[in-house]
Amino acid sequence: MKRNVVLQLTGVERHYGQGETRLSILKGADFALSSGEIVALVAPSGTGKSTLLHVAGLLEHPDGGEVTINGCACEGLSDEKRTAVRRSEIGFVYQFHHLLPEFSALENIMMPQLISGLSWNEAAARAAQLLDYMRIGHRADHRPAELSGGEQQRVAIARAVANAPLVLLADEPTGNLDPDTAHYVFDALEALVRQSGLAALIATHNHELAARMDRRVTIHDGKVVEF
Ligand code: ADP
Ligand code: MG
Repeated sequence: MKRNVVLQLTGVERHYGQGETRLSILKGADFALSSGEIVALVAPSGTGKSTLLHVAGLLEHPDGGEVTINGCACEGLSDEKRTAVRRSEIGFVYQFHHLLPEFSALENIMMPQLISGLSWNEAAARAAQLLDYMRIGHRADHRPAELSGGEQQRVAIARAVANAPLVLLADEPTGNLDPDTAHYVFDALEALVRQSGLAALIATHNHELAARMDRRVTIHDGKVVEF
């Protein structure tokens, strides 16, 4: 599979507060993520993992530097264009699933596709396929409350990639799961990435999971470094 850099952070700065209480979280952070690779982001709490993911996912603006998605420099874009890039190219998964409780697993995965204009049948077919990839096809008609934690997170991952983004960003997606379930969820995520050529950056505290990824990076002194 051809490898392209699909996410690039260049000299990213992020500060909170002002004056004496100013907190510099990212200080000229550089990072590149290529299609088909899964990278672990492992760093202690409070070092800026979520900040980095939010900036990379166009959910927050950096205070300096550039975020480039598939060759498109995003900082100069209008809000409207940024939102369009975010919707089409980025999938985001949080520690908590944030699935809609009134809808089935299948419907939750159909939702972003219906919003982006696919027909009901197209959305249902792709949602069913994604549930199969995540090995929960038999749970399609269940509502989130009827699913286990690991199943809920697999539905959340399927929903994040429903519109075939280039980049999957996950913020401690297995943080609420027991170790065996975390591995099971990661197995499914890995199968999906390998099959689709997606690029994934996954913040995790789980060193065993991190060891299974292609590369590991951390945040040190406001910069992204390999370890
Ligand atoms: P991590 O995800 O690695 O735990 P975060 O990116 O959430 O770290 O936070 C990094 C630091 O920035 C923390 O010290 C946090 O308190 C601070 N921080 C995060 N968001 C804000 C905010 N909106 N305002 C002020 N400080 C913030
Ligand atoms: Mg965090």
